[in-house]
Amino acid sequence: MGPEELLAYDREHIWHPYAPMPATTPVHPVVAAEGVRLTLADGRELIDGMSSWWAAIHGYAHPVLDAAITRQLGAMAHVMFGGLTHPPAVRLAELLVDCTPDPLTKVFFADSGSVSVEVAIKMALQYQRSRGRTDKTRLCTVRGGYHGDTFGAMAVCDPVGGMHHLFTDLLPAHVFAPMPPATYEPAYAAELESLVAAHAHELAAIIVEPVVQGAGGMRFHDPAYVRLLRELADRHDVLLILDEIATGFGRTGTLFACERAGISPDIMCVGKALTGGYLTMAATLCTDRVARGIGDGEAGVLMHGPTYMANPLACAVATASIGLLRERDWRAEVAGIEKLLTAGLEPARGMAGVSDVRVLGAIGVIELTDPVDVGTVQDAVMAEGVWLRPFRNLIYTMPPYVCAPDDVDRITRAMLAGARAAAR
Ligand code: PMP
Repeated sequence: MGPEELLAYDREHIWHPYAPMPATTPVHPVVAAEGVRLTLADGRELIDGMSSWWAAIHGYAHPVLDAAITRQLGAMAHVMFGGLTHPPAVRLAELLVDCTPDPLTKVFFADSGSVSVEVAIKMALQYQRSRGRTDKTRLCTVRGGYHGDTFGAMAVCDPVGGMHHLFTDLLPAHVFAPMPPATYEPAYAAELESLVAAHAHELAAIIVEPVVQGAGGMRFHDPAYVRLLRELADRHDVLLILDEIATGFGRTGTLFACERAGISPDIMCVGKALTGGYLTMAATLCTDRVARGIGDGEAGVLMHGPTYMANPLACAVATASIGLLRERDWRAEVAGIEKLLTAGLEPARGMAGVSDVRVLGAIGVIELTDPVDVGTVQDAVMAEGVWLRPFRNLIYTMPPYVCAPDDVDRITRAMLAGARAAAR
């Protein structure tokens, strides 16, 4: 099949994310990925400023990650996890318990970020039920958040500006606080306090993305809010779930974003960069208290069990990916990228149509006043030899940590070109 036939078949038969069928937006055939570069079917090479939706932190075809999968493939690709266990799962669990905040000691392996959020919500609801708190059935979150596309996760995404408004009337009604401002504001904190207090009797858990709201709008918040939510959760006998799927494994400059707030959650979701972008896997971790509470309940078990739970290949590559992070000075890499993004995006501040420029760790964002035409911006970005996927009014990058300084510069130049094209 030549590239033209391939694209024609793709357009007619394959759903792409958030896309119509047949597709109307362009897709580009990619035939290889190595280091931080993607090779398209027409031979063009693009620096990947997206890390495959923020996951491929070590770049592609990394010899250590390739070897980990190949080695595991020699032993077994997959076995059911029900009633069986295996060394790759145990090794990864050990690493996760070790590198996440101390009170998190139990690991549930999920097969995607959204599923890990479903599991976190179930953990919280089952925990409260087990304690006889059958009235605690709602969740509290903040507007502007994004936690996944499955039904439980959609119910805690922003119901108004968000991606799931089509389903709002079918979703359980949770409690939404206004979006946190970028910097700490006592009036907002007071509003949050009174909202949680007013609903405490019916709240099972608070769920938020700590410090960075990702797919909901690439916004950064003062870690003080995360600290406040921890306090409120404790004060009102509510659990705190942190969704570190986007922020985990170093993206913001600390291994997990909650470290910036100096707190730990009762339940935490990790995914995306967990396997270094190689295979689909996520995990939900919880404390002894939550696990024991669920165990003491009527069911006595956590009611979830995916077919591909703890897939050995995914466990092996996740273990290797965390190992790589530990071996390399990723903090210096992310700090270096932060510096380059800050300097490289500075010229966007004065540009027509740009309302904000922000950088945190290996995340760089140009926010425009109006929604962009994705095709127009993408063409301008690709002409600079870079791959990005703008959405709504945002042109952003979350590059692999192994990007060389020149590559980061290329990405920022491409983002500026994208912003100029959007303004035309
Ligand atoms: N939570 C957050 C914070 C995310 O960024 C995402 C993915 N963008 C998800 C949950 C859902 O993860 P997945 O796409 O793996 O289901």
